[in-house]
Amino acid sequence: MIIVMSSRDKKDVDHVVQKVIEFGYTPHVIEGVARTVVAAVGDERGKERLTALESLAYVEQVVPILKPYKLAGRQVKEEPTIVNCGGVKIGGGHFCVVAGPCSVESRDQIMETAEICKKYGAHMLRGGAYKPRTSPYSFQGMEEEGLKILREAGDKYDMPVVTEVMTPEQVPLVTEYAHMLQVGARNMQNFGLLKAVGKSPRAVFLKRGMMSTIQEFLMSAEYIMSEGNNNVVLCERGIRTFETATRNTLDIQAVPVLQKATHLPVVVDPSHASGMWDLVLPMARVAVAAGADGIMVEVHPRPEEAFSDGPQSLKPEKFAAMMEAIKPLVDLMGQQL
Ligand code: PEP
Ligand code: MN
Repeated sequence: MIIVMSSRDKKDVDHVVQKVIEFGYTPHVIEGVARTVVAAVGDERGKERLTALESLAYVEQVVPILKPYKLAGRQVKEEPTIVNCGGVKIGGGHFCVVAGPCSVESRDQIMETAEICKKYGAHMLRGGAYKPRTSPYSFQGMEEEGLKILREAGDKYDMPVVTEVMTPEQVPLVTEYAHMLQVGARNMQNFGLLKAVGKSPRAVFLKRGMMSTIQEFLMSAEYIMSEGNNNVVLCERGIRTFETATRNTLDIQAVPVLQKATHLPVVVDPSHASGMWDLVLPMARVAVAAGADGIMVEVHPRPEEAFSDGPQSLKPEKFAAMMEAIKPLVDLMGQQL
């Protein structure tokens, strides 16, 4: 149920929160631009008691939340959420470019890549230190050393950093170094991990599972938010279809479909969606035109030497060209780069 407040007074909101707890529900206060609402999440059987709160002078109305994703849905918050990540804004008209290598491979490599990314206009630096590889014999990542040098590169070039966390046990360590925690496609329904990142003070970059529906994707965001972390960025990174010409199939419709359903920012990853560097630019254009709130792209100074995802990584000059190509489009879409 949503309790729509007619007052924004802290005392009134606190009283409603108190009542919600008393009735056996978990309260989540959502402060929108126009109004404050208290979402009461729990067993619907007590809804009559919640409805009785309408008799309070500072409660406008009590309405049921019809969607299974309650905190992520537009119903509780009409205006877009702007996720602030180490000073970089994502969503609500702020277009964010996240760039960097698939994996952090060495100090020199991440420093060189960070310099390139910054030079051509990236806002955030990415790089995996814990890599979810299909084969246990493939490069698994530099782990804590990788986190350390990723952060050093981000600090040096003034870009907040995002990196993947694969297990609940890794969350405290990754939280120490990263501004944003990435939950990869393969872990989108790792509910223990979702709960753990939901307790972290860091924003979460949630990638869509390669075999997940949009509703499942939103329910995963709901897991994170239900733990109290509302700073969630959704990332469409391609899904598995019968098509084998590309690594995945970019579900571009997911962008407007998600934006209709949720107030959370939606970012597109054309690198993992296509698996080929020469498709990254056209798919980045498509992402902007579809109204995405940002893109995540893989960049490597020498893709032919990359430890992972070389074929889809952009060389410096290709990244520069992509940035030039999307700039007028971002502008046309009324977004700020
Ligand atoms: C990545 O971002 O490097 C990655 C592994 O992505 P995904 O989880 O989307 O495959
Ligand atoms: Mn990758």
